[in-house]
Amino acid sequence: MGYVFPPAPMPSLPILGTQDRFPVRRIWCVGRNYAAHAREMGTDPTREPPFFFAKPADALVPLGGDMPYPPGTRDLHHEIELVVALHRGGRDLDAAAARDAVFGCAVGLDMTRRDLQANARKSGQPWEMAKAFDHSAPCSALRRVADGGLADDGELTLRVNGAVRQHGYIADMIWNVSEILQHLSGLIELAPGDLIFTGTPEGVGAVVPGDVLQAELSGVGELKVLIV
Ligand code: MN
Repeated sequence: MGYVFPPAPMPSLPILGTQDRFPVRRIWCVGRNYAAHAREMGTDPTREPPFFFAKPADALVPLGGDMPYPPGTRDLHHEIELVVALHRGGRDLDAAAARDAVFGCAVGLDMTRRDLQANARKSGQPWEMAKAFDHSAPCSALRRVADGGLADDGELTLRVNGAVRQHGYIADMIWNVSEILQHLSGLIELAPGDLIFTGTPEGVGAVVPGDVLQAELSGVGELKVLIV
């Protein structure tokens, strides 16, 4: 018995300081995790339980590079985010288990077709076409926790064509990494290979073909994306 066509390659990320790669199973994303970004999206940043959405693992663009401008939008937005990579999973993780589940961190871009998201929010439709499209998840190499890659005091900076568009501190997340994993593992069973995009600070905005995006998470890594 074989497959009727070759299975798709396993999406993966390089790991800084090793020759090994991190196999990516699923991409989970946290909505609205910084108060100032919640306000700029027109919502009240109260500490309601976090909410989640997903992208397909093959939306990953490892190490950035060229990202094709997607069809169906006139308002492609950048969202710079801390990305957490899990090497352990489980359900109903407590704080200690959540901490132990984290293999490393990266900096990623939760690229968003904002006009489609606005339409979906208005009409009560799902977010997939706004969030889960091809090439919607550029991500840097991973820095292992053992190498200092859990950026509790990290600083996120996104430049577009050299100008700073987004800047924020990991410490300003409404829900920290441990809390995110505790909530999410109460809803689904987390698994080794899962990535979590943990939300974006304020300053999201549109990009167009020809723009160069440079994302940086201090102490963790950098990512460069060219919209083509
Ligand atoms: Mn986001």
